[in-house]
Amino acid sequence: MKKNIYLFGPGMGEGNAGMKELLGGKGANLAEMSNLGIPVPPGFTITTEVCTYYVQHRKYPSDLGNEVEQALKRVEKAMGAKFGDPESPLLLSVRSGARASMPGMMETILNVGITEETIPGLIKKSGNERFVYDAYRRLIMMYSDVVLEKAQGIDPEEHGIRKQFEREIEETKKRKGLKDDTELSTEDLRQLCQTFKAKLKEVLKVDFPGDPTEQLWESIRAVFKSWMGKRAISYRNIEDIPDDWGTAVNVQAMVFGNMGENSATGVAFTRDPATGDKIFYGEFLPNAQGEDVVAGIRTPQPLNEATKAVLANELSSMEETMPQIYEELNSLQKKLETHYRDMQDIEFTVQEGKLFILQTRTGKRGGAAAIKIAVDMCEEGLISQKEALLQVKPEQISDLLHPMVSPKAERTATKLADGLPAGPGGAVGQIVFTADDAETQSKEGKKVILVRAETSPEDVHGMHVAEGVLTSTGGMTSHAALVARGWGKCCIVGCSALNIDVSTRTVKVGGKTLKEGDWITLNGTKGTVYAETLPLFPADPEKNLSYKKLMIWADEIRGLKVRANADTSEDAKLSRKFGAVGIGLCRTEHMFFGPERIKLVREMILADNKEMRQKALGKLLPYQKEDFIMIFRAMNGMPVTIRTLDPPLHEFLPHNKSAQAEMAKQMRISPEALREKVELLSEVNPMLGHRGCRLGITYPEITEMQVQAIMEAACELTKKGIKVLPEIMIPLVGTKEELHNQREIVVRIAEVTKKKYGVDVNYLIGTMIEIPRAAVVADEIAEFADFFSFGTNDLTQLTFGYSRDDVVKFLPDYLENKILANDPFQTIDRKGVGELMKIGIQRGRLKKPNLKIGICGEHGGDPKSIAFCHQIGIDYVSCSTYRIPIARLTAAQANINSQ
Ligand code: ADP
Ligand code: MG
Ligand code: MG
Repeated sequence: MKKNIYLFGPGMGEGNAGMKELLGGKGANLAEMSNLGIPVPPGFTITTEVCTYYVQHRKYPSDLGNEVEQALKRVEKAMGAKFGDPESPLLLSVRSGARASMPGMMETILNVGITEETIPGLIKKSGNERFVYDAYRRLIMMYSDVVLEKAQGIDPEEHGIRKQFEREIEETKKRKGLKDDTELSTEDLRQLCQTFKAKLKEVLKVDFPGDPTEQLWESIRAVFKSWMGKRAISYRNIEDIPDDWGTAVNVQAMVFGNMGENSATGVAFTRDPATGDKIFYGEFLPNAQGEDVVAGIRTPQPLNEATKAVLANELSSMEETMPQIYEELNSLQKKLETHYRDMQDIEFTVQEGKLFILQTRTGKRGGAAAIKIAVDMCEEGLISQKEALLQVKPEQISDLLHPMVSPKAERTATKLADGLPAGPGGAVGQIVFTADDAETQSKEGKKVILVRAETSPEDVHGMHVAEGVLTSTGGMTSHAALVARGWGKCCIVGCSALNIDVSTRTVKVGGKTLKEGDWITLNGTKGTVYAETLPLFPADPEKNLSYKKLMIWADEIRGLKVRANADTSEDAKLSRKFGAVGIGLCRTEHMFFGPERIKLVREMILADNKEMRQKALGKLLPYQKEDFIMIFRAMNGMPVTIRTLDPPLHEFLPHNKSAQAEMAKQMRISPEALREKVELLSEVNPMLGHRGCRLGITYPEITEMQVQAIMEAACELTKKGIKVLPEIMIPLVGTKEELHNQREIVVRIAEVTKKKYGVDVNYLIGTMIEIPRAAVVADEIAEFADFFSFGTNDLTQLTFGYSRDDVVKFLPDYLENKILANDPFQTIDRKGVGELMKIGIQRGRLKKPNLKIGICGEHGGDPKSIAFCHQIGIDYVSCSTYRIPIARLTAAQANINSQ
């Protein structure tokens, strides 16, 4: 028979922290704490397997009833009380607890077991009638909300029964001129219980159950059902938590923080979760039950003097008012942190001077705090360097690379609304509602935040100049989210509380109306919006000592090298600051767009014959050369991979009439002639058209000019004693003949140039592997290649046959219907694209065992893809500048995990 239930409590822990899959995080940790001798109220965990069974069969395993009964007996014995007993009744809490913590998503019901029958016994036992009615009204509130409403599929929102109860309490308080819940008298509470029950009957047409066993089983059922609730499902979708994990249910003896002034409840962190500072940080409420702290009904008090200072909260601390309990708590938190070797988030309750721990878990923290905590713990000798490296999530690094909202200021600010954290960092600015407004106002020197229902490619210019972008609709793969992430721009999407009216230039949010020009602050890392200006910390990782240390450790451990995708010397400089050891992709066409250059590029494209083309190219040459000089200088001897021209030529020509007319005038040709040329160049399927090495084969003079520019730059610097390491990369190769053709051009020009300058320069010639055929015939291609670089964007596009530019039309449906588990343009598809990569590596190295292999393209900065690259033996990943430190850490983690 399968064991469905595991006990916990002093001396009776049956599980341990390693059993999270079966017992959920909360249950596993309650058992672990029991084994450590930490005072947890006794109870038992019903396993996640029972949840899965229940969701599938709509009933429980047959022996569950029996097991619950047996377990309950053990708890009753430990507590010296009996569930439902009129003389000495035991009360229970029923708590959900999934494998991964899902804060606020699941349900908890406290005080289960209070009935008209058990009330007298409870009063006698506690000698505190007020406490009993306070506990009773809480039970009615929670039970009605969770069991009688939500579990029945009613979405409560504003008109929910709980809200109605809360209004009753408010009315009572108003009538009697009271400020605080704790001032309600016994009689008030008794009356409220009656009112609640009558309301329940009136609104939901049910009686509050007078049978404790019914209360217990219905609560258990409600927790299991909450796993399939709307809120929980959408949370799981965002956090990538599989539906079939299920939740466990923890049934636990109640302890009471609301039994008077020597009782209390609170939440504490073993370190400050916002800054990572090594202070014991927390809040508590005297004479209250747990939910009060989170619900924000009363202002919690600081746990100790350290917290008082951080929060600038003048209320008296637990350290002052309950010094002995505080000392005990303080020693327990140290024990817990040492045991778990990570920062803990602890829930506790004090019942009449006795301390109980109700929960411990790994504390959530921001990026800067995560780095500080990991490095500090390592230096304190608590964890090893490898553990420290694994403790920080790669994405958390990006917090340091972008301006961040000051965590201290954020702590005391009131938030306006929540959305999805689509682009990292913080932004402060004045609201604008259109991309054009964003552009004009930012030209006037204003800092603006673009607020829109959603964005489209037409808004890109406004998004570009905005400090941040905020949309009311859309998900993590919406246009706004994709664009913002690409730029590393602060962005919040799907902020549904916003009611935007572009015509009046106003936005309504929760009773507030903001207008154009009003200041707001976005925290794109968390998805929080504030209607005020909060201070931003500039991005300056170099000043962060913990970050620097962690990165040194990462570089020592990682096998993969990390290079940058950089097209300008500014990017190159920044990438070195972020720790790149070379450039893995320099896209030469990005140098073609400057106002002077684009003219020459167009002249080249419009040329009727080779001579005219060469003339135009000759004028372009000095520009390209200058760019390369600057980039080589910035990289100072590190390898720089330069890709020859890749995009189809028509991308450089204007497509609308007025722009064509303008250009024709500039070029002194007739608009008709221009239109003809544009039409001539236009393609049905440009992604599969005349681009990549195909250009260099049709127009060898383009490759010649580019190689000459590269080599002249390299030779000039070499002469000055500056080291350069150019790697010339041919794009979109599918056959060895293509590469052979281009290689000959490169070698010829390179040798001529070297001779002209009279210096020797080491250079490599390689190719991108981005056409599936190239991966398959990699052995043939390797014959002409000194290196490979997987262009995973095109490789994905061509392997799936999804146009990268059109995929947005169906990708959301594919993800929602689970046809694809991930966006393959974000995370490498291991089965298909990944297999091609493996074939490419294996066959390439068959020919050339030491073939250097890298990857460029978006995947180079994606943690899951980086881990894969490590596994299949790639030498380096190349990614956009802002992802470099993330890639360095991920590469280190991949190496640790594979050891
Ligand atoms: P969550 O997963 O949302 O944190 P919990 O199951 O931890 O939910 O319960 C919420 C709060 O209810 C706890 O922080 C605690 O204060 C209170 N609580 C839960 N179980 C008990 C108990 N056995 N005795 C006293 N309070 C409890
Ligand atoms: Mg909790
Ligand atoms: Mg490509």
